[in-house]
Amino acid sequence: MDKKTMYKLTYGLFVLTSQAEGKDSGCIINTAGQVTSEPNRISITVNKANFTHDLVKKSGSFNVSILSEEASFDTFRHFGFQSGREVDKFAGYEDCKRSANGLYYITAGTNGYISAKVEQAIDLGSHTMFIASVEDMEVLSGTASASYAYYQASIKPKPEKTAPAGKTVWRCSVCGYVYEGEELPEDFVCPLCKHPASDFEKVTQ
Ligand code: FE
Repeated sequence: MDKKTMYKLTYGLFVLTSQAEGKDSGCIINTAGQVTSEPNRISITVNKANFTHDLVKKSGSFNVSILSEEASFDTFRHFGFQSGREVDKFAGYEDCKRSANGLYYITAGTNGYISAKVEQAIDLGSHTMFIASVEDMEVLSGTASASYAYYQASIKPKPEKTAPAGKTVWRCSVCGYVYEGEELPEDFVCPLCKHPASDFEKVTQ
């Protein structure tokens, strides 16, 4: 069995936004997709560690803003590398509007958004899968959607390819964070993007 086969799956990238008890937040997900057309339903799968997960769970509604190839790394950093538990991601954030359901959607670096209402929440352990009916949607631009592969190749800043002379470092393949040390602890979690040790690659000169 070749575990790298999983990398052959293609994914889009999205900002998931929701609101509960007067608090707005958003996070990056790569798991939105249409699951039925009549009625029109989408699914999203969200890590329970995300603050936005709890907002969706509580309110039962969310927006998915579809990131395009014009999305900047700042958008990923803003919604992906910090937690809504610690910062208000919409305080002073201007690239957003409220849709008819009262939730924010992202207006810069996106090509559309979908407003949906949760029908089912399926507990998957680390994640919850939400099946939701589409209530509203708008196309925002004609730019192609950003795939995860496009993000890796063209949005994420290019890191230094080599480690300092004689040193071994481990680099997070998702955000580029560098851990200095010969061995990366198995339970290491990237402090920036929260991805696990399995997403790090060893870099030696
Ligand atoms: Fe990372």
